Amino acid sequence: MAIALLALVACSTTSTSVSGSGAPTAGVSASSGLPTAVGSLPTSIATSSTVAPTENRAPSPTLPAPSALPSTPAPAATQAIYPTPLYRYPIGAPGRPLGDGFVIRHSYAAENTWFNPGWWHTAEDWYAIEGSTVGARIYAVADGEVVFAGANYPGRVVIVQHTDGLFSMYGHLDPALAVKAGQWVSRGSLIGTVGPDAPRAPGHLHFEIRTFLTQPEVNGAAPRYGYRCGVNCPPGPGYWPIDAPDHPSDLGWRNPTHVIAGRAFADDASGTLGEVVVASRPVSSSVTLWSAPPGSDEARQSLGDLELRPDEQFQLLGIQAGPEDSRGTSAEAYRLWYRIRLPDGRDGWVEAAAPSSAETGSDGRPSSISFNFFPFTTAAP
Ligand SMILES: [Zn+2]
Repeated sequence: MAIALLALVACSTTSTSVSGSGAPTAGVSASSGLPTAVGSLPTSIATSSTVAPTENRAPSPTLPAPSALPSTPAPAATQAIYPTPLYRYPIGAPGRPLGDGFVIRHSYAAENTWFNPGWWHTAEDWYAIEGSTVGARIYAVADGEVVFAGANYPGRVVIVQHTDGLFSMYGHLDPALAVKAGQWVSRGSLIGTVGPDAPRAPGHLHFEIRTFLTQPEVNGAAPRYGYRCGVNCPPGPGYWPIDAPDHPSDLGWRNPTHVIAGRAFADDASGTLGEVVVASRPVSSSVTLWSAPPGSDEARQSLGDLELRPDEQFQLLGIQAGPEDSRGTSAEAYRLWYRIRLPDGRDGWVEAAAPSSAETGSDGRPSSISFNFFPFTTAAP
């Protein structure tokens, strides 16, 4: 995806939507390392009685009762040829889809009241859902060159410049890094592990995506706000004042989840993009299946509720992510929807990542992001 940075910035103000053609691909399934195969369990669809309060939509059609749904398992899996995702999540547990088992405790452009009140967080803080995050493996989200490795943030910082010009930054790592400055890394390459608990916060990954290594007003020759890192410090402050006249996206920070989802596949990718898997700890026990993602031009209607069974896989037909330079604040600014195909051939849109009030800003709005689905082709090595 060798596209000039300027072109990417220019088109980054609109939502990114990659949608497959929906052509039937019955019997095609990626070989997996996970125990649950597509179609091994009949997928339960209950007629929806849930009505989103803000949706203005047509009535839901009546869906067949679960007992009327096909119970025949999908044909024997064959090796599918799916496009390779260009971007992936930065953290993972061995053998699990990247991102699974983790939560974004403090999201992009949300206030972190217990750590740095009064400042927007310019990154995503990834934590293990259960137990300590210390030692979790950190991977390059895309191909690129390591342009910085060092600092004490606390913990080491690695910054990678990708082929599309964006920079990814991984903070609070263990001193025993797996990479050095000047080294080329491929997407999924091990960068290091999460470092030990620090005096002010438990061990976690501070993960940024941005358009700059140093930016004069942020961390270059003339930082506008004196904070921690100082002059010409590539890691940068990691925060931006809430009372600043500009949003972090104005300075060049980007919403990492929106970038990873929006750039996962080339714009002309079509057909079945891959597979997604239900998170081991989904946000809720079911999600509503919609005929279109939010904000689309078409009339949008509920197709019923889909029960979420951990590890169940679905074919991925499309992705809709919010803008990379999102201007919203709090976790409510996030938008990540997948179009999936059910074992019976029908398809619809589901919310893949949802805001959570596990952490909130001083205004009470949610600061955390939890996941219902993860891309499946990205099992951690
Ligand atoms: Zn952070």
